[in-house]
Amino acid sequence: MKITKKILFCFLIFILVFGINNDCFSWGFWAHKKINHQAVFTLPAEMLVFYKNHIDYITKHAIDPDKRRYLNKNENPRHFINPERFCAGLQIHNSKVGITNPNQLIDSIPRNWSDAVYKYSEDSLKEYGIVPWYIYEMLGRLTAAFKERNVDKILKNSADIGHYIADAHVPLHCTENYNGQFTNQVGIHAFWESRIPELFGDKYDFFVGNAKYIKDPQTAIWKVIKESYIASDSVLKFEKILNDKFPSDKKFSIEKRGRKTIKAYSYEYSLAYSNMLGGMVERRMRASILMVGSLWYTAWVNAGQPDLSIIENKEASLELMNQLKLEEQERKKINNGENGHTD
Ligand SMILES: [Zn+2]
Repeated sequence: MKITKKILFCFLIFILVFGINNDCFSWGFWAHKKINHQAVFTLPAEMLVFYKNHIDYITKHAIDPDKRRYLNKNENPRHFINPERFCAGLQIHNSKVGITNPNQLIDSIPRNWSDAVYKYSEDSLKEYGIVPWYIYEMLGRLTAAFKERNVDKILKNSADIGHYIADAHVPLHCTENYNGQFTNQVGIHAFWESRIPELFGDKYDFFVGNAKYIKDPQTAIWKVIKESYIASDSVLKFEKILNDKFPSDKKFSIEKRGRKTIKAYSYEYSLAYSNMLGGMVERRMRASILMVGSLWYTAWVNAGQPDLSIIENKEASLELMNQLKLEEQERKKINNGENGHTD
């Protein structure tokens, strides 16, 4: 009996730490879908009908980039950046002791991809994470799609860029200590970005106003990275403080998710953490929504404001839908073969 309990405990710990493969390194699926969905309502009239007609696609496929991680080895670095890795040797930051000079750190990284490759090499960049450069690249692709008035490309690039923008707003996507692994806080990544919004997101205010034209997208994207990086300090510090004062036997609860039993951060612990964060998760989700809408809008303006009424009733092609279906099947095959996890 004792051994069985021990095995069960180890299993639950395993699920907690490793069994969160779907959303461990990204906003939870719920939040990603919500962000893309709400971004549609920030758009001006000239874009709104097209996006509303395709809101199911934009919402459902908000999570495609995470799913592609199983299929494409180049996918992973597109979702994060570890700024600390860029200044190894500069001695201006140590992720184990906290931020010492975030401005100097982030500003030392070249904004242009080619300059960054020259300074660090492409292999290193892929190791350190490339989300800000990739968002900029996606913006170019979306602009080209608008110029072509290509429905498939507009939909695919809109859904994808929404995902990467949202990821860049998550503080733990912008630090080397992304899952509290250096500070004995393993599990905090999914706690902040999945558990908290899934528990309390229903009460968040997602009306963020109108999308804005962004004159200098590169600077705007790096500003998001800087904000996320700075916020990562509080994300980690507050959980540490809470952990030290919260009764340890009340920190986790056992919950049923479908047919699975999981060990999760308890409601009480989650509420206390959310209160300590003072609305940070809601603010980052709101900022994500506005930025997603604004970069869609910016791409459309930069494409010469093409008339979307001509294509607003056109569906995604059968070819694109079949391609996505095949990717999904392939991913499920890999998933099941690897560890039996399914989504
Ligand atoms: Zn992601």
